[in-house]
Amino acid sequence: MGNTSVSDLRLLPSIDRLLSAQDIKALITQYGRAEVKRITRNELESMRVGIRQGDNVDTSIVAICNSIHARLKSQSRQSLRRVYNLTGTLLHTNLGRATLPQCSIDAVTEIMAGASNLEYDLDSGRRGERDSHVCRLICGLSGAEAATIVNNNAAAVMLVLNTLALGKEVAVSRGELVEIGGSFRIPDIMARSGCTLVEVGTTNRTHLHDFESALNAQTAMVMKVHQSNYVIEGFTASVEEARLAEICAKSNLAFVVDLGSGTLVDLESYGLAQEPTPMQALKNGADLVTFSGDKLLGGPQAGIIAGRHDLIRQLNANPMKRALRCDKMTIAALSSVLQLYQHSDDLPEHLPVLKSILRNCDDIRQMALPLVDILSNHLKGKATVSLIDCDSETGSGTLPDKVIASVGIAMRPAPHCSDYDVLLDRLASAFRRLPVPVIGRIHRGSFVLDCRCLDNPQAFAAQLSELEIIE
Ligand SMILES: *Cc1c(COP(=O)(O)O)cnc(C)c1O
Repeated sequence: MGNTSVSDLRLLPSIDRLLSAQDIKALITQYGRAEVKRITRNELESMRVGIRQGDNVDTSIVAICNSIHARLKSQSRQSLRRVYNLTGTLLHTNLGRATLPQCSIDAVTEIMAGASNLEYDLDSGRRGERDSHVCRLICGLSGAEAATIVNNNAAAVMLVLNTLALGKEVAVSRGELVEIGGSFRIPDIMARSGCTLVEVGTTNRTHLHDFESALNAQTAMVMKVHQSNYVIEGFTASVEEARLAEICAKSNLAFVVDLGSGTLVDLESYGLAQEPTPMQALKNGADLVTFSGDKLLGGPQAGIIAGRHDLIRQLNANPMKRALRCDKMTIAALSSVLQLYQHSDDLPEHLPVLKSILRNCDDIRQMALPLVDILSNHLKGKATVSLIDCDSETGSGTLPDKVIASVGIAMRPAPHCSDYDVLLDRLASAFRRLPVPVIGRIHRGSFVLDCRCLDNPQAFAAQLSELEIIE
């Protein structure tokens, strides 16, 4: 090694010499000659750049072969990988939202592996309906007359608007013109669905007479949107669903409720805050409700639309429905989740979302305690580790003003000459580089792993020996 200079470019071995090296020959067997050659060329080029910049560059054959091997290994790794979500946000959109129950994993695996009766009626031997596998269950659980499913709830809202209000006006309360993380904005969705948004009332207060004066011959629909990720407090007023349903029925308009998350169980019966349910909205007179499959419902990404039979038939006849339809893996996963809801006595035991929301702090603490010592050992001299009380949240716009008491492992970098924030980032990035990356959050000067969603501490601990903080 040692300092190199421009003249050291001559020390770089030729590509032919590298390709005939013993170590590289083994890589060629594994990854193919063309790919190894391409990577070798890239490696040599970046070494040349380094040498010209005056960097320390190890030009030994062994070192170059190691870099080439590392490059090949990292690019052959799957891009989409499992991670530990220890952020404290249970339904984290960036981390794939709901974890599926085992019965869904089994159902998807089976359906993926071979042919199925996806659109085939086994009784008659004729063509069947792909949605039929889930819609019966949705109706049974929600009390809806009919239902249909699409790719996600954003698609559900678009399909409803485009089918029932194309070229017409849709009245929405100003307080509900929300943006939901990941670029779902009601005004934009409305425009792209071919509808004209009519904003009703003010941000904090909307009254029945505001709606009445907004309706005219051009109006096709009144839509209520669950405020999801924020709460308006103080001097507020909104119109009850039942009142909106009444004025819609009188004027022959569709009344649609976008529930966002929606849940098919009464969360209060588990001691949690209430989240609006499709059952309640339909009972209040909604003609249609829309909600997500992978929020509190705890299933795969999907958009569920339930309500009046005649309206669902119109949705299914829109060519957009064909473009937004669910695939067989989604249908397999969703139907098995809905079957769990049919036996709701032991639902929390089988549905990961509910299980993690309801997990008690003592249980989490007991599991996390031994990990503190293990982590302290691996981070000796680099960070101090302790158990802390922290707050989890459900996320994805569900239960927005409610936090769930939880227990986390907090790590604080040891005092050091570098900038404290830089050290914190290095700590977080070391956890992200583990074989199964660990995602935590930085909170009040600590790197925190909220342990509410950790259910396999042994596997978690087993990979900690590979923790490496890069200075
Ligand atoms: C989350 C949400 C959506 C979007 O649902 P996706 O399933 O993410 O497409 C739409 N409306 C509301 C009110 C939401 O909370």
